[in-house]
Amino acid sequence: MVRETRLNLDDLIYPLFSYPGENIKNEIKSMPGVYQFSIDKLVEECSEVVDLGIPAVILFGIPEDKDTKASGAFAEDGIVQRAIRAIKKKHPKLLVVADVCLCEYTSHGHCGMIRDGEILNDESLVVLSKTAVSLAKAGADLIAPSDMMDGRVGAIRSALDAAGHTQVAILAYSAKYASAFYGPFRDAVGSQQAVGKSYLDKRTYQLNPANPRESMMEAALDIDEGADVLMVKPAGAYLDILCQLRQLTDLPLAAYQVSGEYAQIHAAAEKGWLDYAATRDESLLAIKRAGANLILTYFAKEIAEEQA
Ligand SMILES: [Zn+2]
Repeated sequence: MVRETRLNLDDLIYPLFSYPGENIKNEIKSMPGVYQFSIDKLVEECSEVVDLGIPAVILFGIPEDKDTKASGAFAEDGIVQRAIRAIKKKHPKLLVVADVCLCEYTSHGHCGMIRDGEILNDESLVVLSKTAVSLAKAGADLIAPSDMMDGRVGAIRSALDAAGHTQVAILAYSAKYASAFYGPFRDAVGSQQAVGKSYLDKRTYQLNPANPRESMMEAALDIDEGADVLMVKPAGAYLDILCQLRQLTDLPLAAYQVSGEYAQIHAAAEKGWLDYAATRDESLLAIKRAGANLILTYFAKEIAEEQA
């Protein structure tokens, strides 16, 4: 009765990876229990998600081909566009969040367009807006820009409205830090190329882990530009940011417990150094306690299974 914070199944969003081909379910080496799914298998997975009572999924795509223009990101028959259509056909009520970024689709692995070693912010906005509209057209309920280009929330909002998708909401990755905790995710989507190329790494557009005030500024811009939900990523090492954002706005807040947070609990538990379930549950409770309304976590399915 005196418990102040509770984790509910309704808080959780389950990340899923859509992979080319058929009948494919590849486990990601650094993320035990997380898979790349071909679309047929992804729809089966969503049936389990729906039966378990998880309200939402967020989709990432591994395209057949990558190029410098990120063509796969906005293609009518892109991997995520096809996945959304297939999921929505079978499960119209499952909330589908579509991550919007270019790094899964660019041959260089960056989140925007580049020329002569420089990120092209405004050119990237055009491609991101086109991508958002094509995902909304495929049936996405929420568009989640994770690229961290300046002005992308406003550009995407205008593009969605102009295309008639006024009901599609924007979940903005407002405080996305240039974090080492993303390591295993890059295994999952094959975008390792961009990391570690000195000046051309993602630190020119993602936030510096040393900067809390900058994330408040980014969040204020996203709110101004029309974001409906704000996100902090990663979650566990950035609970102070979540807590400060809670003071800044009454918008719903999301937090992404990222691949490295998931992997480290698995790895330590495998060695017998941590109690797996207790650490997992505490990590999620702490995110909720810090102020998150929504939590994106790879643990969503097993939490739901244990509650079932
Ligand atoms: Zn990206």
